[in-house]
Amino acid sequence: MSKEIQAIRGMNDCLPQDTPVWQYVESMIRRTVSSYGYDEIRFPIVEMTELFKRSIGEVTDIVEKEMYTFSDRNGDSLTLRPEGTACCVRAANQAGLLYNQEQRLWYMGPMFRHERPQKGRYRQFHQFGLEAFGMQGPDIDAEVIILSARLWRELGLTPFVTLELNTLGSNAARAAYRDLLVSYLEQHKDLLDEDSLRRMYSNPLRVLDSKNPAMAEMLANAPKLLDHLDAESAEHFQALQQRLQAAGIEFTINPRLVRGLDYYNKTVFEWVTTSLGSQGTVCAGGRYDGLVEQLGGKATPAVGFALGMERLVLLLQTLDLIPAVSNNADLYLMPLGEAAELAAVSVAEQLRSVLPGKRVMLHCGGGNLKKQLKRADKSGAALGVLLGDDELANGQVTLKWLRADQPQQTVNIADLAAVLKQF
Ligand code: ATP
Ligand code: MG
Repeated sequence: MSKEIQAIRGMNDCLPQDTPVWQYVESMIRRTVSSYGYDEIRFPIVEMTELFKRSIGEVTDIVEKEMYTFSDRNGDSLTLRPEGTACCVRAANQAGLLYNQEQRLWYMGPMFRHERPQKGRYRQFHQFGLEAFGMQGPDIDAEVIILSARLWRELGLTPFVTLELNTLGSNAARAAYRDLLVSYLEQHKDLLDEDSLRRMYSNPLRVLDSKNPAMAEMLANAPKLLDHLDAESAEHFQALQQRLQAAGIEFTINPRLVRGLDYYNKTVFEWVTTSLGSQGTVCAGGRYDGLVEQLGGKATPAVGFALGMERLVLLLQTLDLIPAVSNNADLYLMPLGEAAELAAVSVAEQLRSVLPGKRVMLHCGGGNLKKQLKRADKSGAALGVLLGDDELANGQVTLKWLRADQPQQTVNIADLAAVLKQF
């Protein structure tokens, strides 16, 4: 026997027992985004490497060490998308959707990052993301957050997630603050770990994001960007908070929340949970007014978020919040004999036409009644339809209840659809 080929580490199959959960979550997401008037956009899984370098930033975990990058046969450097925002901007801009227009878009699909696989962290994972373009006020920031809050509510998750909020201010305010932060970090160089020392000059804000407990106290005392905001950003942030309060959405302000990607300004937020261990961020987003221009489009304000689907599914499973979904068959047709096998094909087709939404399975592979009943039982069907050669000659079939103690019933094929419609 030849050696079995295994899946790539960190890239998981979604087996039939798990697909109903995913379908449930996906359908709740579709319903929610649609109720706010957002439209779906789909873009390729592979893009030019340059797209991510230019958007996410060279000095980020993703670009430094997580991308799946390869040369294709003509020597172009391509990358499996590690996130969707850059792709969405590229696609929408290329199609001319961003030019002097407002757009509310969403997407869903696999993303790829070469990280150490663990619970809630995979190399192929899935994101649902949403991006709103062409609107610069705090009203649209509030809308995307309120939309995410509605999704938690619909899924029963509201008590288990909390909203953290911060603002990164304008580029100018951030640049001025950056100098302050660097000089503070220089004074505490002895406390910085290797990653932070490396980032201190290239991306000092990311040092604030460090989870290293040895640095926690020093970072807690670092100067805060919130104290050095430009007037417009401060006002924007105030107005956003007022809107969230008006919508009854609770939040905490986390001055150290900076996000792992370079393109954000003003509003940033994360929905976090304590029910998933260390992979606690379920959804993260913010405003990125500079990105469209940075990628070659006309300057366009934008705000959005991305939600980790695996983490959401895990959370729902952990909290036992998934409604029971059955993939049992409804009807199982058992042809007994050669003529019956032929007749059963059209009976099954007719039943599928008149019983939309029902799972009508036709036994394949022959065998006697005992074998077929065994399969019928495994299918989970409540009702079996026996098609015997003799009965068929009389234009009849037999209905057999598979899970209830009820007598069999002989029915004319002509009446079958009408009889079954009542079940
Ligand atoms: P983390 O700090 O957990 O690495 P991140 O800042 O890299 O997250 P984002 O780029 O903001 O994550 O992606 C948005 C969301 O996608 C995350 O909040 C998380 O729910 C999910 N996500 C990110 N990376 C992974 C991964 N490797 N596996 C599963 N989900 C992920
Ligand atoms: Mg990450």
